[in-house]
Amino acid sequence: MSNFFSSGLNGNNLFSAAKPAEEKPKDSSLNGQYYDLKDNYQQIFVEAAESIRKDLDEFKPKDVCKDCSVKDCKIEKKDIFAPYPPAGCKYREWQMQAITYLTGDYKNKLQAALQSLMDKRNEYECNKCGACCKLAVSEYSYAQLKQRALKGDKFSEDFVSVFVPYETEDEAKKVNPEYFELLNKLVEDSKIYYYHCPKLGDDNLCTIYEQRPNICKNFPHNPLKLLPSECSFNAWKDEVAHQAMLLKAKADIINYYKEKLG
Ligand code: SF4
Ligand code: SF4
Repeated sequence: MSNFFSSGLNGNNLFSAAKPAEEKPKDSSLNGQYYDLKDNYQQIFVEAAESIRKDLDEFKPKDVCKDCSVKDCKIEKKDIFAPYPPAGCKYREWQMQAITYLTGDYKNKLQAALQSLMDKRNEYECNKCGACCKLAVSEYSYAQLKQRALKGDKFSEDFVSVFVPYETEDEAKKVNPEYFELLNKLVEDSKIYYYHCPKLGDDNLCTIYEQRPNICKNFPHNPLKLLPSECSFNAWKDEVAHQAMLLKAKADIINYYKEKLG
């Protein structure tokens, strides 16, 4: 699931990258949408955390300490993250049940919900603007992508089968300055690489349409992906973004629980 949500938006970088209110642009540009998305994610993250906490409280043990054989337990606030004794404690059992639940039934439900958001994508059509063919990005260099492809990574294999790197960042920036700036902002201090596809014809249409790889057929493969403003799938994104962010927040929170309680 974390791969699916590879939008670069996660709890950590969102909270650390949050800007003071007065610095946020109040417009409908890609830039404005970016800040809105980050603000929404922060709120949604809290909403998701509360909802999970409520679910886990449903099977929290009650009044079990009076019958407990563990000596010298000084834990007063029975919080899910408290350092309970590893054996003989019903609250520790609760923690383990929580992990089983979150990584089992709960995660399966999230995956099913995610699939239904992806299915909705089929209700929208590509307007053939060519923007995604003219400017694509990866956290990997061309050499790294080729290596990954050789090791069996299907996405990388598809990617290097059509995309080639821009010679310079300036060249990439000229193609779509707004999208370029936004992508740069999203990754903050990380390095990203810019690519374009030479299979795009002068008429803006794909010259190998029937044989295009799956990464093209399935684009955009993530409802949280930042898209060029020309892309008609922005309408799909608008429709499902809230739900998708909620699912992503829940997936991030499950990882947090696993790390803390596992
Ligand atoms: S193969 Fe076709 S659809 Fe895919 S990036 Fe190239 S031009 Fe676009
Ligand atoms: S940017 Fe969106 S609308 Fe434009 S060609 Fe790519 S998928 Fe189609």
